[in-house]
Amino acid sequence: MSCATQVMERGTSKDSAVAGRRPEWLRVKLPAGKTFRQVSDIIQTHSLNTVCAEARCPNMGECWSAGTATFMILGDVCTRSCGFCAIKTGRPVQGLDWDEPNRVAEAAKLMNLKHVVITSVNRDERKDGGAPIFAESIKRLREEIPGVTVEVLIPDFRGVWEALDYVIDAKPEVLNHNLETVPRLYRQVRPQARYERSLELLKICHDKGLRTKTGIMVGLGETPAEVFEVMDDIAEIGVDVMTIGQYMQPTKMHLDVQEWVHPDTFATYKEIGESKGIEHVESGPLVRSSYHAERHL
Ligand code: SF4
Repeated sequence: MSCATQVMERGTSKDSAVAGRRPEWLRVKLPAGKTFRQVSDIIQTHSLNTVCAEARCPNMGECWSAGTATFMILGDVCTRSCGFCAIKTGRPVQGLDWDEPNRVAEAAKLMNLKHVVITSVNRDERKDGGAPIFAESIKRLREEIPGVTVEVLIPDFRGVWEALDYVIDAKPEVLNHNLETVPRLYRQVRPQARYERSLELLKICHDKGLRTKTGIMVGLGETPAEVFEVMDDIAEIGVDVMTIGQYMQPTKMHLDVQEWVHPDTFATYKEIGESKGIEHVESGPLVRSSYHAERHL
């Protein structure tokens, strides 16, 4: 039996329907310790946001205790209302904060980061989507930390590719844009996004010579066959890195978990993704797009 057949059988098993407690492979380290507090203090004193805290990432204990975090720029209010995401939704009242790139660079330096990951909320109320702040943050980081490498995890800018050009021109070492799920589930999971538009963004960035990365969550009701189709799509474009992790419901108001995907299935996804030509597939229950990001350079 091939790996693909095995995973397809496992993925369609009724035994995997979700109820009650998380399985033991999703237990995580609790936030604690001196380094964790230092990271927390630096973020607070620089008036910054992190996706770790805003999106209630399960890896916060591990990442922050190891001295790393993912900065979330452009405020803490997102113009979209994705079904999986815990970040506040609304219309941001502020314009762009041009001091934010300075604070990101200072905080990253204090944290002694050599590889920095920056993401943002969606700022669909702006034609430029806030892209100039991504570019300025990359520039300031390079000024402040010689030799730093930067990964940006960007929104789709509603397909306004002039906005995307700000980011491309800043030449981040890794350009990440998450597909989040399989196309059939976009209406529930990412109602304001379009699968084809996200693929186009990745293709543009790849064709401009950037190292590209994308990620999906599983456990939202997708089938393994649909995951393989996403892999085919991104392999065809030439995406270099793919992350696959378990969806976890952040609050009762968010989409239900449909399945706790077994670690063996994640291992099989990695094997199949890489066999399809994706250079590096990071796949595991607790994998998030910025988890162990320094390995994706
Ligand atoms: S995986 Fe990413 S978002 Fe989660 S805590 Fe680590 S750095 Fe933050």
